[in-house]
Amino acid sequence: MPSPTPEMPTQSHPAEEALAAVRGRLAEAAHAAGRESSSVTLLAVSKGQTAERIAALAALGQRDFGENYVQEALPKLAALTELGLNWHFIGRLQANKTREVAAHFSWVHSVDRLRIAERLSAQRPAHLPPLQCLIELNADAESTKGGVDTAALTDLVAAVRVLPGLTLRGFMTMPAPREDPAAQRAAFRRVHEAVRPWMPPLDTLSMGTSGDFEAAIAEGSTLVRVGTAVFGPRQR
Ligand SMILES: *Cc1c(COP(=O)(O)O)cnc(C)c1O
Repeated sequence: MPSPTPEMPTQSHPAEEALAAVRGRLAEAAHAAGRESSSVTLLAVSKGQTAERIAALAALGQRDFGENYVQEALPKLAALTELGLNWHFIGRLQANKTREVAAHFSWVHSVDRLRIAERLSAQRPAHLPPLQCLIELNADAESTKGGVDTAALTDLVAAVRVLPGLTLRGFMTMPAPREDPAAQRAAFRRVHEAVRPWMPPLDTLSMGTSGDFEAAIAEGSTLVRVGTAVFGPRQR
């Protein structure tokens, strides 16, 4: 007996079905929380995905995309300019990359220190609207991810708010992955409690990924950052 032809993993994950499934899960989670599904933006995280795959999702009506690495993102942004997509920078920000982020992205989710915010503001080109920005909170003391701790938050919010090249819209967090939905919710709830003094007027809470976005929506997320669940496995 000849062995069966191995499946191509990326082709067994058609973009249309995956996007519809994530939209369905998002709507269900919003409904369960007594919220409108339109109150949660779906950000498709496209790191490790090609421009062709991004264009395929854009053709299905997906408008917001997130990238983590400036060097990887710029050629894709350039290839897809015509589509007029909303690009969000969600990766760790290094001072020597702020100029390119300020010039090419609409949103930045990962502001965690004043020096970076000041550079982004000064480097935002004058012909563009202000860069929409979120302050990243460290949700877990033990986490190795970036993010400001809650003690430093008040000062950073006050300082970022007055920078002319930025519009502070809210907060982002990326807790360590957890399996248990109750534990996921507890981490998101802590972050939401910490930022409540500013919301409103700030209106954006970026939290939740493929593995935990339902828990994040239950705890008030207004923007979920979903990669593998919409695109399938990353290609590099
Ligand atoms: C990669 C990444 C995501 C998406 O993670 P998935 O598990 O693929 O959904 C979301 N947020 C940030 C900050 C990321 O780096």
